[in-house]
Amino acid sequence: MAEPPSGVQREFPLARLTTIRTGGAGEYFARPRSIAALERLLAWAAQERLEVGVVGSGSNLLVADEGVRGLVLKLDGELSTIELDGIAGDRLLCGGGARLPAVSAAAARAGLSGIEFGVNIPGTVGGAVRMNANAYGGSLAEVLEWVEVVSGAGTERRTAPQLGFEYRHSNLRCGEVVARARFRLTPAPQEQVKATLALLRERRREAQPSGIKTFGSTFKNPDDPRAEGLSAGQLLDAAGCRGLRVGGARFSDKHANFVENEGAASTADVIALMAAGRERVRERFGVALEPEVQTLGAVALPADWRSR
Ligand SMILES: Cc1cc2nc3c(=O)[nH]c(=O)nc-3n(C[C@H](O)[C@H](O)[C@H](O)COP(=O)(O)OP(=O)(O)OC[C@H]3O[C@@H](n4cnc5c(N)ncnc54)[C@H](O)[C@@H]3O)c2cc1C
Repeated sequence: MAEPPSGVQREFPLARLTTIRTGGAGEYFARPRSIAALERLLAWAAQERLEVGVVGSGSNLLVADEGVRGLVLKLDGELSTIELDGIAGDRLLCGGGARLPAVSAAAARAGLSGIEFGVNIPGTVGGAVRMNANAYGGSLAEVLEWVEVVSGAGTERRTAPQLGFEYRHSNLRCGEVVARARFRLTPAPQEQVKATLALLRERRREAQPSGIKTFGSTFKNPDDPRAEGLSAGQLLDAAGCRGLRVGGARFSDKHANFVENEGAASTADVIALMAAGRERVRERFGVALEPEVQTLGAVALPADWRSR
């Protein structure tokens, strides 16, 4: 095997890089700080035929308890900055590792509107693009101008329409890393944008549990007439899943689509809890919920779960 590029660590514990705090170690782990460093790492991984995984804020991610084979990356340095770009003063250039609430706050300070919805999404720009994250009617596709995607084959720029956005889905493939993104926003009075952020934070505080170890929505809202318009959380609630527990994992009392790690949960506990909740919803409503949470490593999912 060729010598790994500098900075690559072995058997790096990944649980603390996720918000649910479960899972094992990454076989190889690195924090690239520039596009050049990222390209070197991906070229090395391609040469060694290593699978590549990316962790953003780990806010919608389940890591396998047995750990992750291959190379796991977390973007840092230049790949997590936020700056004004272009001569018109309405563009924000962000590293894929920049945190979305920080992007929303930076936009507000610059008197730019359009990405307020990011204030409550505790993920990174790269994770948000991969997941097509949104909230309260905001839409990434409307404000995203382009992304720079790095893979073993090099770096290319893709526009928002080229990313195949659907509900919680983009067409980014495994091993394709969103290194940078540029947003095109609309000038607006600073105080107005800041007031919107405060309002959205308040709405979120009322609706969702805070201060718990969770990865946010567990299942996607179903597109199934048998759900009669109910969200995944409402279906789980009606099927009696609020507070349901497996090992150290339980469905939150405040929001049934949120799994909480009570302290010592494993990823296997979370999957078993998800399976139990999904089964209850299927029995009661005939609806097969599809996981929203993403996995890293060989997480054993029941065979009939559809997840892209
Ligand atoms: C309390 C809470 C509230 C939440 N509210 C919302 C909400 O309102 N709306 C919403 O949409 N989501 C919400 N989420 C879920 C989550 O924050 C989003 O899905 C977010 O976009 C995930 O970003 P991340 O950086 O944490 O990605 P991770 O969870 O680290 O990873 C998710 C996926 O993205 C991939 N990925 C990460 N970074 C990159 C990159 N740079 N390039 C390529 N792929 C990458 C990972 O490999 C993985 O497949 C919430 C989560 C929590 C914990």
